[in-house]
Amino acid sequence: MDLKDLYRDVILDHNRQPRNFGRLQPADAQAEGHNPLCGDRLTVFLRLDGERVADIRFEGKGCAISTASASLMTEAVRGRDRAAIRRLFDDVHGLLTGSGEHAAELALGKLAALGGVREFPARVKCASLCWHTLNAALAGGAAASTE
Ligand code: ZN
Repeated sequence: MDLKDLYRDVILDHNRQPRNFGRLQPADAQAEGHNPLCGDRLTVFLRLDGERVADIRFEGKGCAISTASASLMTEAVRGRDRAAIRRLFDDVHGLLTGSGEHAAELALGKLAALGGVREFPARVKCASLCWHTLNAALAGGAAASTE
């Protein structure tokens, strides 16, 4: 099994069984995201403990890439503070657009599975939607769009 197969399996697994799927009620912050290009819609719910994301869930309907990306994101950001999440976002953005360093890719762990998306520019917005939505929630906003 090569790395590409492994990454594909991670995406398929997280699409079939999304982690942290559902609502948080009450939530300290939430935002809705929409990717009109593909039709992906999702809502991210946060419970905050000071600067830290104590809990995170998401729900919505979208393609396999958007669902798997949101699932992987929730696992990666839970328990982290805003500064760490911003660094992680920068690394993910670099990974998706191909401008990232290989070292950053290694530090991303399972999130690196999304790297294959950069070969399909139309899908980059599917993978980044959840991150834009998370940023909107952290900023106290209500909506994010990839357009
Ligand atoms: Zn999509």
